[in-house]
Amino acid sequence: MHGCVPGLMSTTRHLPVKTVPTAKLPSAAAWGVGMSPVFDTFLANDSIVTTESLGSPDGDLRLYPDLDRLVALAGQPGWAWAPVDRITQEGERHPGCSRTVLRRIVTEAAERHRITFEAGIEIEWAVGRGPAADGDFVPAVSGPAYGATRQVELSDYAADLLAACAAQGIEVAQLHPEYAAGQFEISTSALDPVAAADVSVLVRQTIRAVAQRHGLVVSFAPAVFAEGVGNGGHLHLSAWREGVNLHSSGKGRYGMTREAESFVAGVLAHLHALTALTAPSPASYLRLRPSQWAGVFTAWGRETREAAVRIVTGTAGLTDRAANLELKPVDLAANPYLALTGLIAAGLDGLTSAMPLPREITGDPALLTADRAAALGVRRLPTSLSQAVRAFRADEQLRAALGPVLADAVVAVRFGESDSVADLDDEQIAAAYRWKY
Ligand code: GLU
Ligand code: MG
Repeated sequence: MHGCVPGLMSTTRHLPVKTVPTAKLPSAAAWGVGMSPVFDTFLANDSIVTTESLGSPDGDLRLYPDLDRLVALAGQPGWAWAPVDRITQEGERHPGCSRTVLRRIVTEAAERHRITFEAGIEIEWAVGRGPAADGDFVPAVSGPAYGATRQVELSDYAADLLAACAAQGIEVAQLHPEYAAGQFEISTSALDPVAAADVSVLVRQTIRAVAQRHGLVVSFAPAVFAEGVGNGGHLHLSAWREGVNLHSSGKGRYGMTREAESFVAGVLAHLHALTALTAPSPASYLRLRPSQWAGVFTAWGRETREAAVRIVTGTAGLTDRAANLELKPVDLAANPYLALTGLIAAGLDGLTSAMPLPREITGDPALLTADRAAALGVRRLPTSLSQAVRAFRADEQLRAALGPVLADAVVAVRFGESDSVADLDDEQIAAAYRWKY
């Protein structure tokens, strides 16, 4: 092995990385690798915004690779990868570490509520012929949505991808051609939330690396084009107590316990603010449009694809394992650690306040009249990043879950991102972010 890539995720956007030669791995594990705290205030165009505590040229911190998750990268022979935790030079947890923030809320849920979680992140991406002129996206397949022909066209790529995932210990549940041009989707088995976020980062690194070996390019951007269906990153989550799934062991709707119902109610109550974490790019709002299965209304329903929260019960016989909630207004511009932290914080607020679950919505909420939607409490999610950030800024619970340093960074970065596209039309916004994720 040549080297190790300690990967981390910044507040928004891409994966900053550092690499060390393999011979330095023991020292990296013992003492960390240096990094500036500035990365959380980067915008997608590589400019930097500032907050009270981040964005300055001063300071340093240490990246500690999590050796339990060290994995030889099958798509990048000679390289290994590990997610990192950020520690200050004084040995404290760094307040900008989103992986630490997620671990903290998971630990608190276990201590205060005796609840553990299982999570999974779906990954949709578009595969293009590369490299195309002028940053254009040229789909690598011509077959129809969900079509077997697409699977044939990219047969070798898909096979190598599955082999790479297997070699890296990633349990893939499914890989299939999706709706949009060149689009595919992979889903992985449920894991504890920190591991699920780690895997989501690793799977994307793998998808990209294997594509490159096949002369293909990939985009995880929320909207590869301004119009049409985008790339989602739906979150699945279930809450458990002592091995019992709270989404399938109660007398509430679809077998939910009272706590699971309140958890879902909490997610809906915080959803406008949560969108700033789950849909963090200006391009996210090109995807978040009605009737494109992205779930842009504060509503829930069993197996609904237009409500923000889809209740998955699983097939009879499997429900005690499979029941979970799926959050749809999530894309892969999101930092998965922060998105899961926000989702859990919102749900736990509902659970602790015993929020009542509103009525189920069936069909497409876009077809409800304004009066009917208001009567049912169905609201359209933010239609722009700045709207979402304003909701986040006003949401005490979500801000507290992130802590002031990360919450401020989220606000500054999102406003900065929003300002940076103020003069662009939708096509230009799609183009600006097409290859950023
Ligand atoms: N591509 C859709 C989205 O942007 C999701 C399609 C599906 O339900 O799998 O969320
Ligand atoms: Mg899909």
